[in-house]
Amino acid sequence: MTQSTIANEAVRRRTFAIISHPDAGKTTVTEKLLLFGGAIQLAGTVKGRKSNRHATSDWMALEKERGISVTSSVMQFPYRERIVNLLDTPGHEDFSEDTYRTLTAVDSALMVIDAAKGVEDRTIKLMEVCRLRTTPIMTFMNKLDREGRDPMDLMDEVERILKIRCAPVTWPIGMGKRFRGVFHLLDDRVHLYDAHHDGGIQQGESIDGLDNPRLDEVLGDQAQELRDEVELVREAGNAYDEAAYLAGELTPVFFGSAINNFGLRELLDRFVEQAPPPQPRETETRVVQPDETALSGFVFKIQANMDPNHRDRIAFMRVCSGAFERGMKVRHARIGKDVKIANAITFLASDREHVETAYPGDIIGLHNHGTIRIGDTFTQGEDLKFAGIPNFAPELFRRAVLKDPMRMKALQKGLVELCEEGASQLFRPLISNDLIVGAVGALQFDVVAFRLKSEYGVDCQFEPVGVSTARWVYSDDTRQLARFRDRQQENLAEDVSGALTYIAPSRVNLQLTEERWPDIEFRATREH
Ligand code: GDP
Repeated sequence: MTQSTIANEAVRRRTFAIISHPDAGKTTVTEKLLLFGGAIQLAGTVKGRKSNRHATSDWMALEKERGISVTSSVMQFPYRERIVNLLDTPGHEDFSEDTYRTLTAVDSALMVIDAAKGVEDRTIKLMEVCRLRTTPIMTFMNKLDREGRDPMDLMDEVERILKIRCAPVTWPIGMGKRFRGVFHLLDDRVHLYDAHHDGGIQQGESIDGLDNPRLDEVLGDQAQELRDEVELVREAGNAYDEAAYLAGELTPVFFGSAINNFGLRELLDRFVEQAPPPQPRETETRVVQPDETALSGFVFKIQANMDPNHRDRIAFMRVCSGAFERGMKVRHARIGKDVKIANAITFLASDREHVETAYPGDIIGLHNHGTIRIGDTFTQGEDLKFAGIPNFAPELFRRAVLKDPMRMKALQKGLVELCEEGASQLFRPLISNDLIVGAVGALQFDVVAFRLKSEYGVDCQFEPVGVSTARWVYSDDTRQLARFRDRQQENLAEDVSGALTYIAPSRVNLQLTEERWPDIEFRATREH
């Protein structure tokens, strides 16, 4: 593959994820975006497709039973001259660790906000994660077909709580029963909303120019209201600024109604033009440019058993440079081994297919028989390790307790393997034989118990344990660190990779310990 082919393909890629609070409309937006991409014919198929696929897999029975989406997937679709990769993130808050890590594999994000509710908890948390890599963010204010908050207030709230400037690109004309469409501030064009449509792409009438008398004809009083509001917005609001957007300091804002497929086209048009293509990525040794000819990529997620015919797991790798071709030999950098990838998976929105070629920004699925971990780097021979794929400190802890003590070996093996995947974390206290599992959400324990049983034949329960938070500890001062290890033994553990972790019985205890040991660093994330 020539460098110019790779460079051309890379600049066409737009790889992103949607961040939102549950119910804001992420699934609906996803569906409509796929519709634009021609990836699906009719709205309403994303959820249906998911449940069909899951129904065929016994591991997914748990997911079905709970009516939530444990897994996340990748959808690729073409739009105009671009190839869009949308990385879905699990909606349920119990799986936020996966969501966090998916955000390390994207080049930008789309924030979806329910216009009636404004900024909600989970959006705040996800925004913090985006900040770790200054990910550029576009915003879609959804559900304008319902009575919601004043658009100015909404933007104020985003600016105040999420600490990012808002620059409206479209502006709503009324809302709820009076919702008539949007005005595009940059194109100087009104796009009218049609409440009676068939669920397909809304063509609607477009009217050029705010002064166009046609506006008064169709909007009546609302035409002057719009002119006044736009004048105000232009005076008081932030102007669109591409550099500030790319620096993660400003978010372009769009208004619309996802369920009515309205307002999203304006967003998508802008998105494919301005959202960043694959960016250079840091490794521990150097910065990798996307147009380098040698392949490199890292694993950000491992998912169980998507294909019921295989008991193995799929490792999701984001391509960072070069091109992946079927049958290619790649170096699994952590273990220094070359492996031939005969049957990688690609994620065209219509279905999973065998990948022929993947370029920077694309995601491929590798079959994993237990050797691949989250954070692993694959290359064409160079020893690289991508930086910035963190573990997040778990917030819930339980002790694994066996029903049949004879199965201890199997339990240990199962826990180590499941925790190496990264969705939950295993801690082994220095002074006891406890197996403590940490997770970001409570449901994760059910998933681990379920998989221990179905994949390892181990019956195990999770009991409360006196740990409330964890911090990875570091220090350049090896003597201090040794002293710390010695004195604080009872609250120290090793994680699955052997990293020293302070498992605090309470937040207060953590705070006091931090104050007492100023030379020790307590980190809430650990890089793989
Ligand atoms: P998710 O949890 O973020 O994936 O949200 P969904 O896409 O499943 O949407 C949550 C609910 O909001 C569903 O009942 C949708 O039908 C509804 N919804 C989504 N978009 C809109 C919209 O533009 N207007 C209205 N009125 N409802 C919407």
